[in-house]
Amino acid sequence: MEKWRKLMQKSLTTVDQISKALDLPKDELAGLDKVFRIKVNPYYLSLIKKKGDPIYKQVIPDQAELKDCDLESDPLSEEADSPVPSIVHRYPDRCLFLVSPECASYCRFCTRKRKVGDSQKISLKFIRQGINYISVHPEIRDVIISGGDPLMLSDKQIELVLSSLRKIPHIQILRIGSRVPCFLPQRVTTKLVRMLKKYHPLYINVHFNHPDELTPEAYKALGRLADAGIPLGNQTVLLKGVNDDPAVMKLLMQKLLQARVRPYYIYQADMVFGTEHFRTRVEKGLEIIKALRGWTSGLAVPHFVIDAPGGGGKIPLLPEYVKSITDEEVVMRNYEGKEFHYRQAGSQSKPRSCVQEILAEMLIAENDLTFN
Ligand SMILES: *Cc1c(COP(=O)(O)O)cnc(C)c1O
Repeated sequence: MEKWRKLMQKSLTTVDQISKALDLPKDELAGLDKVFRIKVNPYYLSLIKKKGDPIYKQVIPDQAELKDCDLESDPLSEEADSPVPSIVHRYPDRCLFLVSPECASYCRFCTRKRKVGDSQKISLKFIRQGINYISVHPEIRDVIISGGDPLMLSDKQIELVLSSLRKIPHIQILRIGSRVPCFLPQRVTTKLVRMLKKYHPLYINVHFNHPDELTPEAYKALGRLADAGIPLGNQTVLLKGVNDDPAVMKLLMQKLLQARVRPYYIYQADMVFGTEHFRTRVEKGLEIIKALRGWTSGLAVPHFVIDAPGGGGKIPLLPEYVKSITDEEVVMRNYEGKEFHYRQAGSQSKPRSCVQEILAEMLIAENDLTFN
């Protein structure tokens, strides 16, 4: 059996197993396996240094999950944009294609809790419907293969999905959204990568939330994907107690670039039931962007977005760099807070006499150079 499958088999999936492995009081996790599936594989478990650290918080359930049941089960109103169970079609030219209910570990802040982990709701049996839908919608040129985690399927199943999509003439690019390179980098085998690269142009968006997740194993997996010519992006969720700190985010983004991953989005946490304890104020995300832009490589600066409740899609938020825009000029602030002016095209330029003055000054300077 492949190494990653063995790791998956050894995953902790019950409250009892987790309490025992982490030496937690017996009732601390009571009732939590009823809300949303638990799975922590031994690799990701090994990254936990102590109770309540950023790795722990992402996968070990907490009593707070039971407390805020007034939040939504479908915060992004995906069901309203779901013509068949495996498709979410919200934007004009692209759609989500949900192909696998499984993940390599379950994020406690999952936005798709209502479906993820449930093989009745996301399953290969819906694949044919999804392929049919995409094939009769020629406006779709970009398919985002997601779930659950598509890379939890077997190589053969993944290839079935990719090859079916590649037969549709209007599909230009394929994207896979996966947390496998973070949760279970051992899954990124040379065999898997050899298969994936037959289906270019193929992009992969990975999901890292903390610099401690960029282990030597993760670097190796990401390197393999990059070597196969797969452009890699990263989506991070802004989470209280995990990465709501500009220094942590900066380190994360810099480490991702070293692994040849381009930071793509930072998401404000969605309003999913049982996740209130993860939400930060929106200003925190703006503060993080401000701490990145200008202070480190532009490549390390992702878009900060809120996926709008009610199905509005992703909306970018930026700190206030623009102070005013008039017909004459734009007044703006740079990353250090200093003010700068830019004259609008077509607004009054310097008067002619001024230009002559400048030319005269230049002439003097030239004479100085010649005769001194
Ligand atoms: C995020 C998302 C996409 C992809 O959006 P991009 O900005 O193109 O990455 C497509 N469909 C849905 C429903 C999404 O939530």
